[in-house]
Amino acid sequence: MKSASERRGLLKAVYQEARGCVACPLHETRTNVVFGSGNADAELMFVGEAPGANEDQQGLPFVGQAGKLLEKLLGEIGMERGDVFIANTLKCRPPGNRDPYPHELDACRHYLDSQLELIEPTMICTLGNFATKLLRGEPTGISKIHGQPEVRTIGPRTVRLYPLYHPAAALYTPSTLEMLRADFLRIPEILALGPPSQPQPPAAQPEPAAPEPVLESAPTASEQLGLF
Ligand code: URA
Repeated sequence: MKSASERRGLLKAVYQEARGCVACPLHETRTNVVFGSGNADAELMFVGEAPGANEDQQGLPFVGQAGKLLEKLLGEIGMERGDVFIANTLKCRPPGNRDPYPHELDACRHYLDSQLELIEPTMICTLGNFATKLLRGEPTGISKIHGQPEVRTIGPRTVRLYPLYHPAAALYTPSTLEMLRADFLRIPEILALGPPSQPQPPAAQPEPAAPEPVLESAPTASEQLGLF
């Protein structure tokens, strides 16, 4: 079990690696890598899509209008940003806020897996289609499965996965905001279920038995008695 300061230290090391990342062409157009922010010891993690212009400028996730809505909804369930960890599927902004390309998601995926491994959240809320499809590994869209918690193993971690509409989609569509708010209000009851059981590490294999000595001839009586 890692302490909070160990988690922070290890996460910082992954952040330093991400800051120098040139694994996909998005490094050419980014201002800042948006690694993620919040509590390294959080039970609850949010995973959005990708940084936008504000996030790219500030190097922090969800600092624009969608982020303000996310904070408001957190406040309505008695939480604040500092209680949770917020990250994205991509750590660099796609130019013009276009959709992430599959090769960008692939190249960036290991940073998200490291975050899950180090933070060890109990629950992950995916925000919108990209994060939901990526973490579930299935093409089912958010409008079908929002608000339906499920236990899923993602990389090394079994979590309560809870798909939500993306706050940006709720900004200008009142009916989406209503659904997002209703789903959000159930977060505390899902968190209260506690962590799902984790996959067991493979059992340690017993040491292979030492081979029997091959006796050239039948042991003599003194050999059998262990006299020499
Ligand atoms: N939208 C996202 O998906 N992520 C951000 O960080 C900001 C807006």
